[in-house]
Amino acid sequence: MMDGATTTTAATVLILLGPPGAGKGTQARMLEETFGLVQLSTGDLLREAVAARTDAGKAAKAVMESGKLVSDDIVIAILRDRLEDPDCAKGVILDGFPRTTVQADALAALLKERGQSVNAAISMDVDDAAMVERISGRFTCGHCGEGYHDTFKPSATSGICDKCGSSDMKRRADDNAETVVQRLEAYHAQTAPLITYYERTGALSRIDAMKAIEEIASNLSQLVAKVTA
Ligand code: AMP
Repeated sequence: MMDGATTTTAATVLILLGPPGAGKGTQARMLEETFGLVQLSTGDLLREAVAARTDAGKAAKAVMESGKLVSDDIVIAILRDRLEDPDCAKGVILDGFPRTTVQADALAALLKERGQSVNAAISMDVDDAAMVERISGRFTCGHCGEGYHDTFKPSATSGICDKCGSSDMKRRADDNAETVVQRLEAYHAQTAPLITYYERTGALSRIDAMKAIEEIASNLSQLVAKVTA
């Protein structure tokens, strides 16, 4: 072994593909804990940019509120910057990126520069009809980020986070019935073609994401354990 050399074991890169409400964020957080990977949600990064009123955030705000996709240039730049943070060396779970074939090509190029590639692109398969109900009922703890749902995962005490005890519960501005329909449309028109894209590269796996959260988590963990072995 070379003295003082950095060991460059290729870090794991997982993609969670699926429409809004498929449970990408919830499952990404569980995989983070189980496999020591870092969740990268372009939606979260964009919401941070909007809150911080950066140029990218100002450009993205109205687009996000309408349920359409933010321009590829903005999202790719945000992801490229985040991938450079040292914690990403552990490996990443991409949640909500790529969402277009332009983004998928940009990701492949970014990873190639680093001697990495996509280990698995996991399509979380769901019925569209259930997504509006799933999304309209969801909320998050503003303090620790734990996700909840009015029907499927309420907190033990209403309004109080089970995990950290905070009462700072938040609902996303774009989690309303009209915007959800637009977000689903954007998914089918621009993101669903990525299923074929990753089928062609040989990275695609599929998961039935209509099951209970714990069962999906267990199926995903088995799949991820296999692709990272
Ligand atoms: P999400 O939190 O993943 O549901 O994303 C919320 C919103 O952020 C989306 O409806 C888009 O407007 C925007 N967004 C997030 N990720 C992307 C992406 N990869 N490409 C384009 N827009 C995105």
